[in-house]
Amino acid sequence: MLRSKSNAFHFAQFRKDFPMLQKSMHGKPLIYFDSAATTQKPQSVINTITDFYENHYSTVHRAIYELAAYATEHYESTRHKVKDFIHAAKVEEIIFTRGTTDAINLVAYSFGKAFIKPEDEIIIAEMEHHSNIIPWQMLCEDRGAKLRIIPINDNAEIELEEYAKLLNKNTKLVAISHVSNSTGTLNPVKQMVEMAHNFGAKVLVDGAQSAPHMTINVQDLDADFFAFSGHKLYGPTGIGILYGKEELLNQMPPVQGGGDMVNVVTFLKTTYSDLPLKFEAGTPMIAEVIGLGAAIDYVQAIGLDPISHWEQELLVHATKLIETVKGVRIIGTAKEKGAILSFVAEGVHPLDMGTMLDLRGIAVRTGHHCAQPTMCRFGLSGTCRASFAFYNTKEEIGIFIGALEEVLDTLR
Ligand code: PMP
Repeated sequence: MLRSKSNAFHFAQFRKDFPMLQKSMHGKPLIYFDSAATTQKPQSVINTITDFYENHYSTVHRAIYELAAYATEHYESTRHKVKDFIHAAKVEEIIFTRGTTDAINLVAYSFGKAFIKPEDEIIIAEMEHHSNIIPWQMLCEDRGAKLRIIPINDNAEIELEEYAKLLNKNTKLVAISHVSNSTGTLNPVKQMVEMAHNFGAKVLVDGAQSAPHMTINVQDLDADFFAFSGHKLYGPTGIGILYGKEELLNQMPPVQGGGDMVNVVTFLKTTYSDLPLKFEAGTPMIAEVIGLGAAIDYVQAIGLDPISHWEQELLVHATKLIETVKGVRIIGTAKEKGAILSFVAEGVHPLDMGTMLDLRGIAVRTGHHCAQPTMCRFGLSGTCRASFAFYNTKEEIGIFIGALEEVLDTLR
């Protein structure tokens, strides 16, 4: 109890770093429970981006003047920060993309072009976000390959025995979310990677919901690819990361042609840059990358292990309280979860719940959460989803539960 109190006190002090958390909504203090969609930004990230545009702005890589040297140094230093953040072996394995979606599409296109043939198989799970479904569907259609789906059980957990049955010598890739954005399930990805590797298949881990909330070690997971978004990690929009093992990325063709990704260009033949620039055509998202660097500094200073402990405490607290609310059913009751609480209420549409909670200053997400097959698995069109970050408090959860009870009373 003492530890929990001091934890609460410790984490509450970070709220002042976030200008958006000081706002009111409909005359009530904003309670922001949509961090699974995108997180709020600390002042240090906002300042870093503003400072770059106001005082240091220029392009990166090719220019020799002082300003460009500054921009290049700060831009490339983020790559080192990302490498350390996810414990990658080499900085060349870190590719800047626009986000998780962009990173997954890059792999689908490039790995697909290099390695996927007719009759090959790609495995995903029933719980995937659309970003980790559609690129594979498109690839399978294009190459005449087959998409196989791992079913989930009533708790929204992967059916590992079914996964084992799906793996075979034709399996070329498994693409699996680390944490589900719609149910919160934390998947046993390390075990799943090992199982896939036994069949020579590669594994992409969609880390959009894990990288901001727990320590990631891509080498320990032995993931071949790992993707995540800066905007869910307290950083700016428009920047994401694709990690890939060097030997694999070296065998994959570039996706876009243009400036920065080439060595020598002639009309007869063009040679491409080495990693990582081979996959980064055009003037990159310079301010966004530098902003992501500031976000990583910010979360590293707090520590990912303390962050995940506190968020788990919030999840357990919210789960206990919501279980006492009449007619509410949690969707996603896996043993291991991220701090995501998806729920439905008997006789009440999630949209109505969300709208009425908004009027009380509480931002939750409603709908299918870009995971229509998951909703379909539970016979639903959508849920209400409260997702937490380290800046949330137990007081906010208490207010939310009280508001939910009121809202349900009104709507029923
Ligand atoms: N995968 C998961 C599990 C997600 O939660 C999201 C974002 N909701 C994405 C992929 C896509 O991320 P982005 O929209 O930042 O590309």
